[in-house]
Amino acid sequence: VTIAPSQQQGDQLHLSDAQIHYLGRVLRLQPGESFIAMDGQGTWWLATWQGNAIAHIAHEILATTELPIPLVLMVAMPKGNGMDEIIRQTTELGVAEIWPVMSDRTLLQPSPNKLGRWQRIATEAAEQSERQRVPKLYPPRPWPAALEALQMATHDSSESKERAIAAFLCTARQGVLLRDSLSQVLSQSGSPTQIVVATGPEGGWTDAEVEQAIAHSFTAVSLGRRILRAITAPIAATTLIAHHLEA
Ligand code: SAM
Repeated sequence: VTIAPSQQQGDQLHLSDAQIHYLGRVLRLQPGESFIAMDGQGTWWLATWQGNAIAHIAHEILATTELPIPLVLMVAMPKGNGMDEIIRQTTELGVAEIWPVMSDRTLLQPSPNKLGRWQRIATEAAEQSERQRVPKLYPPRPWPAALEALQMATHDSSESKERAIAAFLCTARQGVLLRDSLSQVLSQSGSPTQIVVATGPEGGWTDAEVEQAIAHSFTAVSLGRRILRAITAPIAATTLIAHHLEA
């Protein structure tokens, strides 16, 4: 169950109707029994259900289910409800942030209520996969604006130098294998503070978009010789990176 981040040991929790349903009907918990409450920002609590809407936080649980280096997924939104699947599965796999982007060939025009729906999917997937953190989900941005925002976000103003990020652009018909590029980055002294991976839309990235990414220090990488669907590629890239980082 996900709760507000400001809670402390001993606090009383007021559960929503959906949470009461989940504890009582889905988990079949009885009053007096315990469950895990997560604040979505890294802390897990053991909580005791008192019945109905009331629960108490007993104590913190130490858990480490997050990837050792935060992984940011920039994904050109596929058409239909493809983003639902991408958000659910890449959250299970451990992404820290999801940046939906609009590229030249993006076909989806996202409706404003999509973001709330996507956030709910990310929260549910984080709970299901026992994540400590719910991934941050950003509103869709055009590709050039997303690249600029990434540059701003990774610029450490306190030290006025670039933080070490490793950024990969998945391109279906060119580039070294992501596996090899990643191994090389991770074997260098000083691991990156963040890994970024970007995947394109059904029609692929335009040449200009690939050039823009390379100008922003992305490395063009391949996920293999087969062409993956715009939904499959971000899930495959996330799986591969997460697996490397767990090793
Ligand atoms: N016709 C498009 C092209 O040639 O680029 C195919 C696009 S593919 C359906 C959608 C996105 O998935 C691509 O933009 C790329 O980011 C990613 N992708 C698919 N297969 C890939 C592969 N084998 N290696 C790297 N990225 C891939």
